[in-house]
Amino acid sequence: MTHEITDELQGIKVLVTGGAGFIGSNLCEFLLNNNAIVHCLDNFATGHRENISSFLNHPNFTLFTGDIRNLTDCKNAVSSMDYVLHQAALGSVPRSINDPITTNEVNVSGFLNMLTATRDEGVKRFVYAASSSTYGDSTTLPKEEDIIGKPLSPYAITKYVNELYANIFHKVYGVDTIGLRYFNVFGRKQDPNGAYAAVIPKFVKQLIDHQSPVINGDGSFSRDFTYIDNVIEMNVKAMLSIHPDAANNVYNVAYGERTTLIELLGILKEELAQYDTAIKDIEIQFGPERVGDVPHSLASIDKAKSLLGYAPVFDIKKGLQASVDWYWEHLK
Ligand code: NAD
Repeated sequence: MTHEITDELQGIKVLVTGGAGFIGSNLCEFLLNNNAIVHCLDNFATGHRENISSFLNHPNFTLFTGDIRNLTDCKNAVSSMDYVLHQAALGSVPRSINDPITTNEVNVSGFLNMLTATRDEGVKRFVYAASSSTYGDSTTLPKEEDIIGKPLSPYAITKYVNELYANIFHKVYGVDTIGLRYFNVFGRKQDPNGAYAAVIPKFVKQLIDHQSPVINGDGSFSRDFTYIDNVIEMNVKAMLSIHPDAANNVYNVAYGERTTLIELLGILKEELAQYDTAIKDIEIQFGPERVGDVPHSLASIDKAKSLLGYAPVFDIKKGLQASVDWYWEHLK
């Protein structure tokens, strides 16, 4: 879907918060390619100017450098918009364990500011990045939206609180919301650097640099890794859906298959070896398990399929091929 041009987006006005980040910048780019008018609100805490440099001067694009912890910044950016795709947050479970206060300020107070600004501006729909971490200690597989456990980290608490606030803003003020519980998203523009880098870009960079990737645990933990183009599809469908039961709901955003970390590294080595054969022989190391990590994650995507017509086309293999090609070009 994401390579297709759709005239449904022509002229619609969308605020993407966190638009200089990994997911947000991909959303901005897709919307602009489909002739939408895009506002981006970002404070560059974890986002990068290079993620938006190719469209910074696009006539339909406006950058608002600001902070979601500041209500005025939120109001300025949302002014006159039809929709909000709220991505701004501090991601990473370990970051939230190291600094729960800042994570809470951004992910909870910032979220509340954005919801308030959205309500006051009369936006048609507020679509927000929720998280698979909300499943917490529930061991049920596959994860269905209604069965959640207790949160395992401060980050997971903040993302669950987002869902509670969205629900209350619908009930009390009539704000139309959709929460998207992303499952381990990966793809072009995801930051490979820093202590809180996600596992796929981190491993890709290490392999390209001929360093041994370190797996936390024995490598048997599994995830429903989700390629960015599936996430873009879901955001667009959530934003535009006119299904009477679509809104004021949360949805899993995933592919619906799980891959262990050992399998993941196998695919990455195979893909990268096409560029550099020596990568095939790089050894994997194993370290201690991380606090707050759930052993297995696999989504049911039935709800998104039936209510939003979600039909993801990128499985992990296809997504990793595209990502590796992109990283090779950009990191080498
Ligand atoms: P990212 O760090 O690349 O993007 C987040 C963006 O938000 C960055 O550009 C950052 O600068 C911006 N931001 C942070 N604090 C801000 C503030 N106070 N004011 C304004 N902007 C601020 O992360 P991402 O992977 O693109 O994640 C986007 C969203 O998806 C986040 O809400 C995250 O919690 C959620 N999510 C991501 C994943 C994943 O696998 N990547 C999984 C589940 C949920």
